[in-house]
Order: sequence, then structure tokens, then C-alpha cells
Amino acid sequence: MGLYVQKYGGTSVGSVERIEAVANKVAGFRADGHDIVVVVSAMSGETNRLIGLAQGIQETPDPREMDVLVSTGEQVTIALLCMALKKRGCEARSYTGGQVKILTDSSHTKARIQDIDVTPIRADIDAGRVVVVAGFQGVDEQGNITTLGRGGSDTSGVALAAALKADECQIYTDVDGVYTTDPRICDGAQRLDKITFEEMLEMASQGSKVLQIRAVEFAGKYAVPLRVLSSFKDGPGTLIAVDEGDEGENSVEQPVVSGIAFNRDEAKLTISGVPDTPGIAARILAPIGAANIEVDVIVQNTASDGTTDMTFTVHRNDIAKAKAVLEQTALDVAAGAVRADDKIAKVSIVGVGMRSHAGVASTMFEALAADNINIQMITTSEIKIAVIIDERYLELAVRSLHKAFGLDAAE
Ligand code: ADP
Ligand code: ASP
Ligand code: MG
Repeated sequence: MGLYVQKYGGTSVGSVERIEAVANKVAGFRADGHDIVVVVSAMSGETNRLIGLAQGIQETPDPREMDVLVSTGEQVTIALLCMALKKRGCEARSYTGGQVKILTDSSHTKARIQDIDVTPIRADIDAGRVVVVAGFQGVDEQGNITTLGRGGSDTSGVALAAALKADECQIYTDVDGVYTTDPRICDGAQRLDKITFEEMLEMASQGSKVLQIRAVEFAGKYAVPLRVLSSFKDGPGTLIAVDEGDEGENSVEQPVVSGIAFNRDEAKLTISGVPDTPGIAARILAPIGAANIEVDVIVQNTASDGTTDMTFTVHRNDIAKAKAVLEQTALDVAAGAVRADDKIAKVSIVGVGMRSHAGVASTMFEALAADNINIQMITTSEIKIAVIIDERYLELAVRSLHKAFGLDAAE
């Protein structure tokens, strides 16, 4: 008999019928003798609906009030699920993040969990109850409601599993595991039985939204066994685990590329005619950082005539702000024009096998060239190669790369 933290995502609790189906599942685990802590998301579409209401009032509403608003979505689900469990004779009790309490810092809309007091949860488990906790939310030292960023219920689940030393954190969602790429855009995508934390972290950071990146970070740091499973059908799912050497990068079985991730959330800025002098990159990027805008890929061209071009990407939501900051910098450093392009996408190949294989980049570039897809920027890490391309070719690029690296399922 084990202690499991089970997180059910938005689609899995998207209607009263689906909440009843989750209740059946959870009651079944209880009947088998397991201790269960459930973490739920808001019903699908609810968080977006709430954000839409706020934006009807103001484009960027006060972050503290935003958290008070969006945290209500999860509060609805915990209550409904507990009612459905009790109807089945399964004792259950709901908790908001503040009630647990899940203590976070005060960075509203992107707070980080600092500590979890599991005393009340333990008492409920000991009394034979299922505990149902609202995902995505916490509370800061002053008692303000905070939220953990989009997709944050994954992180709530992992953090609770770590604090409770659960046997496994199970992420129940609308796909039956982590795939070689998003199965919604590539029919040949295959479910992975296992993926390393390192690869999952890279996949998540390159845009695979199946797990929130912080959840993977947390699970890696506290060695929480993490599994992604389907809410709708039975199966082993995908285990996210530490690399066990013998099956590691030198094994014959190990594919060079384990997965392909993509991201449509970035936009590109170019500043041209920049004087090619020491310290200029810092002078260009410092004001962007000071404006709290994160920069991802950066490329600087070799200088000709003593001037150079610099291109970098930011989150699409930040493009207008970043362009305004960069235009001011262009005046300050006597550079030329500033251009912005938000019709770009990033496609990344990820795999620990890349460390021990040559020629991965050329295979990638040849596959893209064969489809006439122009590469605008390139960035690499030890286990990843990412390219920026025209957004129109994103799906084509993903499918071509999936095939080129032998990831397509057999017909
Ligand atoms: P939930 O609401 O349960 O949190 P999400 O929508 O956040 O679910 O995550 C599940 C979705 O992630 C899937 O429906 C799928 O489209 C997408 N996804 C992206 N990349 C992958 C991948 N490599 N493997 C599986 N799913 C992926
Ligand atoms: N409801 C939140 C969101 O939509 C958190 C989550 O579902 O993980 O982002
Ligand atoms: Mg999610």
C-alpha cells in the first residue's frame, strides 16, 4: 500500500461528469488501500475565462488582485470533487493553498513555493480521508493569495509529494504519457516508457507544456518519482526518472534524439548598425533586463564597417515593451533601426544521446533544408539544438525532424 499524490488537470475535471469519473478513480484507489492526496486544476477554460474578465477591465491588472481572481478556479474544483467522493462513501476533505498551507514568496502570478505544512494533511490521511488540495495557489508570509504561473498545478502536486515523501507523484492528464513530440501535431509521435529528468527539463523549457518546468525542476531536486498518465484510459504512462548509467548514453538502445519540443510564444527583435565596441552587448541587453523582460536566444553578427546587428528573442507578450526599450537604447548608443517580428517559432531536438554522437546538427539542418525551411537563429546546449524559424513552417518542421531522427512509429 502506498501514498500517492495524484494531480488531475483541467480537461480531466472539465465537467461535472468528468469530476464524477475522477471521483470513481480516486475511490477505487482508496478501496485498494492506498492513501491518496489529490491536487486539481480549475475546470478547463476557467483560468482563461477569469483572465479574460480581468482584461476586460484593464490590460495589465494589479497582480495581487489577479491572483485573488484566478485562484477561484481551483477552489470550485476541490469542493465539487469532495462532494463527488463523499457521495461514493469515500471520506474526503478539501483545502485551498492557504489552508494547507502552501507558503510561497510574494511574486504574484509567478510565485515560488518555499515551504508546505503537511500537518493537517497527515492528520486527515491518518483518519482515512482523501485530501483534495487546490493546485496552482499558495499564500505568502502576509497571508496574500499567490499563484504559481500557468500550468502551476503540476508544481503543487510535485511539491506536496516531496513534502509528504509520497511513493509517487502521478500527473493525470488528457494524453497517456510523455510523447516524442506533441501527439496533437504529429501522428507518428510515440509514448515514451521512461524519460530522464534532464531531458524532461529541457523538453519543458523548450515548450512541451505537458509538464510545467518548475514541476520537473522540483521533482529532480527532491528526487520525487514522477509519472504522467491518462485520466481516461489505463496504462503505465511515462516515468520521469534519473538516468541509470547502464541504460544511459552509451547504450545501443539509447536514441540520439529522445524528443522534439516547440514553442510559439516567442518574438524576435533586431537592432542594426550597432557600433562594434566592447561592452555594447551589455548596454543593449541591460535595459531589457531592467524592464524585467527575459531574453532567450541571442545572435550577434560579425562586424562590417565597424557596426554589427544583434538579434534576440523575448516572450511574445513582452514584444511591445521590449521594442520601446530597444528603440530608446538605439538612440542612446547611436545604432540604426529596430525591427520586431512575432511570426516566429522555436523548434528543438532534445536527447542525452547527443553528447556521444556527432553529426546531429547536420542531420537537423539537412532535414529542414529539404523542406526549404530557413533557419533564422540557432542555439545549442549539451543535450539540445534549437532553431528559430518562420511560424508558418512549425508543424512541417516538427514532423520532418521527427521522421529524420527515426522517431516515427512504425505504420
Ligand atoms: P492538463 O490540463 O492536464 O495540465 P496540459 O494541456 O497542460 O494538460 O498538458 C497536456 C497536453 O500537453 C497534451 O494534450 C498535449 O497536447 C501537450 N503536449 C505537448 N508536448 C507533449 C509531449 N511531448 N507529450 C505529450 N503531450 C504533449
Ligand atoms: N489552472 C491553471 C492554468 O490553467 C493551473 C493549471 O491548470 O495547472 O494554468
Ligand atoms: Mg498542464
